[in-house]
Amino acid sequence: MDKFQNFIMMKLMGGLFDRENSLSEKEDFVKFTKDSPTRYDIMIEGTKYGERSGFGPKVAPLMLSVIRNQNKVIKSLKNNPENPRTNITDDELAELVKLANKKGAGIIGYAQIPERLVFQDKAVLSTHAIVLGFEMDKEKIDTAPSIKCLHEVLRTYDDLGKVSNKIAAFLRKKGFAAHAGHPLMGAALYPPMAQLAGIAFLGYSGITISPEYGPRFRLTAVYTSIENLPKADEDAHAWVREYCKQCRKCIKECPGGAILDEPIIHESGQITHVENTKCMPHFINEYGCSICIKVCPFNNVDYYKLKENFLKK
Ligand code: SF4
Ligand code: SF4
Repeated sequence: MDKFQNFIMMKLMGGLFDRENSLSEKEDFVKFTKDSPTRYDIMIEGTKYGERSGFGPKVAPLMLSVIRNQNKVIKSLKNNPENPRTNITDDELAELVKLANKKGAGIIGYAQIPERLVFQDKAVLSTHAIVLGFEMDKEKIDTAPSIKCLHEVLRTYDDLGKVSNKIAAFLRKKGFAAHAGHPLMGAALYPPMAQLAGIAFLGYSGITISPEYGPRFRLTAVYTSIENLPKADEDAHAWVREYCKQCRKCIKECPGGAILDEPIIHESGQITHVENTKCMPHFINEYGCSICIKVCPFNNVDYYKLKENFLKK
């Protein structure tokens, strides 16, 4: 990014961070704990790397829309009812799913999230979470790294941020309290939430893998006062970790050597195979890179076919 773009980005993001962090001063919000992870802020960290950034004028309108919706997440909290409902009916839940699907979120699950998943300095409305996944177009992702692929990644972030805000507005109309999460820089860690919701599993590439879209989707969550969401009680996708152990394709293909054989265990207990500081120069200078998504077998072969063949061995 050039210096001017950096300056604008930092200005826009700075105000947003202050508003976001102020939520942790609200009495009724669920706050981070001493074991919470620190968020890696791609939009800020990215400004430190490279001149030939893909985050230039061609995607500027999308970035601005992302920031607008990130702000809406905070501003719309004032619309929450004073005494919110806590139980949703089957018909209302069906309506919610229908709305999410219609707006493009093809995956929906529910989780009770532990407080330690809330990022340092952040807070969420509740531990009851609706977790949403939004597909990225295969043809476009398969061109990675390219401007077309970067555009698709950002479009997905933007559209999913809008869906999240729409679902929060829908819930408020029904009398529930809601806090939309944004897929780009949420207030809590999404991959373990997706695992708890039983909709996906974290692969070595740092991307969650689902039966519907493999690694080709993005996640967000809506935190809500609804206590009777049908939460998952089993993790049907844990086998993916064993699959990763023998696959390691993303490790071999990653141009930055950012995906490691051995896991990194952060102080917070968060386990990852991705070293962000090695990924970021490629992510920023090579149009969001995304090679690890493109080469993942789950992007190219049906999840259940891979599972069947793997479990046969
Ligand atoms: S985005 Fe690129 S550099 Fe980053 S982990 Fe994936 S393949 Fe490696
Ligand atoms: S490429 Fe292989 S090792 Fe990497 S996330 Fe996909 S399945 Fe796991």
